[in-house]
Amino acid sequence: MNKEYPSFLDENQIWSILEQEKQPAPSRIREILAKAREGKGLDLNEVAALLAPIPDDCLEELFQAALYLKEKVYGKRMVLFAPLYISNLCANSCAYCAFSAKNRQLVRKSLSKEEIEEEVKIIERMGHKRILAVYGEHPSWNARTIAESVETIYQVKTPPSGEIRRVNINCAPLDVEGFGLLKQVGIGTYQCFQETYHRETYQKVHLGGKKRNFDWRLYAFHRANEADVDDVGLGVLFGLFDHRFEILSLLRHAQALEAEYGAGPHTISFPRIEPAQNSEISTRPPYAIPDDVFKRIIAVVRLALPYTGMIISTREKPELKRELLRLGISQLSAGSRTSPGGYAAAFTNRPEAQQFWVGDERELPEIIQDLQLDGYLPSFCTSCYRKGRTGDHFMGYAKTMFIHNYCQPNALLTYYEYLLDYAGTKAKAEGTQCIMDNIKAMPDPRDRELMFERLRRIENGVRDICV
Ligand code: SAM
Ligand code: SF4
Repeated sequence: MNKEYPSFLDENQIWSILEQEKQPAPSRIREILAKAREGKGLDLNEVAALLAPIPDDCLEELFQAALYLKEKVYGKRMVLFAPLYISNLCANSCAYCAFSAKNRQLVRKSLSKEEIEEEVKIIERMGHKRILAVYGEHPSWNARTIAESVETIYQVKTPPSGEIRRVNINCAPLDVEGFGLLKQVGIGTYQCFQETYHRETYQKVHLGGKKRNFDWRLYAFHRANEADVDDVGLGVLFGLFDHRFEILSLLRHAQALEAEYGAGPHTISFPRIEPAQNSEISTRPPYAIPDDVFKRIIAVVRLALPYTGMIISTREKPELKRELLRLGISQLSAGSRTSPGGYAAAFTNRPEAQQFWVGDERELPEIIQDLQLDGYLPSFCTSCYRKGRTGDHFMGYAKTMFIHNYCQPNALLTYYEYLLDYAGTKAKAEGTQCIMDNIKAMPDPRDRELMFERLRRIENGVRDICV
């Protein structure tokens, strides 16, 4: 049962804010954007105003503000990870998902310990250091078996330097005790998407199983925090309901966590419904989000929560991805498979077992090359949670200094490791040049010298220099 947590989601309040802000004057939009540019975040009214119909020139200024803030806070760093689908067994019936228990055509698969090891080896040989493990909700995947699978992932090591240093989890909500088990095995972020914050819609699309309990899911992060899992990832499945309502609710959720536990979400993910096998709603979502609206969503959330990691996945196509990265995204999945065993299956996705169609089929080296061409610095960093910089500890650091002191050096070091151990000759040369350019751009000569010294250590075989 849910303990009584303070209620934070008031639908009437959300609608009334949207109503109050439905016609913001251009001068108000500009005031809000000026505040956002200072990295102070935005309140719900301000966010509602930015989501209302606004003149084209204001919209352009909104995008410019997001570009500015993204660049100022995150620089050019882009964190990469690989999803690992552990099981598509599911006892729930979510109308939008191919793993739904009602989908009799799906080939069901739960990875054994050996199969998990196989998948992880392949992911490690790509050069990844960070995995997002994904599970359907099923009695065979409880907190204990999930925790065991995490341990398995951490144990796999492959030459030359293959190891997974951070396992994030996307699984159904657990009780406090269950989250405690995940804490013990050292998970990174616990991700769980509310899908929709609109109760009525939620009941309509969740047709059976435990997931029908809206509040159990809504307070999952409260329970996680009680078990000291303080690195959590929120999300909405865009397409199910009015995106303005969803974003305001998501921000209320973030505020509630911050008020209660001293830290908002570590990340927010932005899944948009993709066509899934035997799911009518997934092919014709009731609130389908066109690309231009999606871009605006990303920009507004970036302005509202300047220091929260923002993730897009496999789902989006490369051309759009490029724009979303500029506007706010800081983490990206690469070379992904969305079916259990998908990496081992001769590097092809198995349509008959996968969750949804993958919009970006580029492999990791190509994604890295494209990122670099666009001026980004690929990062395989997993440092923060291993150094205890999570939850309110993370929030305690001066935030831009934090990125400057930790994220940027770690990005350079982990990318250099990747280049030495996994890249081809051309990629290695281009990547090394990119690293050198980044170091030369560091204003303090002591920082530059320190970085060169660390690069030499990596050349001499030292790995995992975690700043
Ligand atoms: N079973 C767990 C749960 O539902 O929380 C975690 C795994 S589930 C596969 C992970 C996420 O996939 C869901 O939270 C949902 O947002 C997303 N998803 C499901 N169907 C999708 C679709 N057709 N397109 C895009 N994302 C989808
Ligand atoms: Fe199962 Fe999660 Fe898919 Fe729903 S979204 S059917 S709970 S895997």
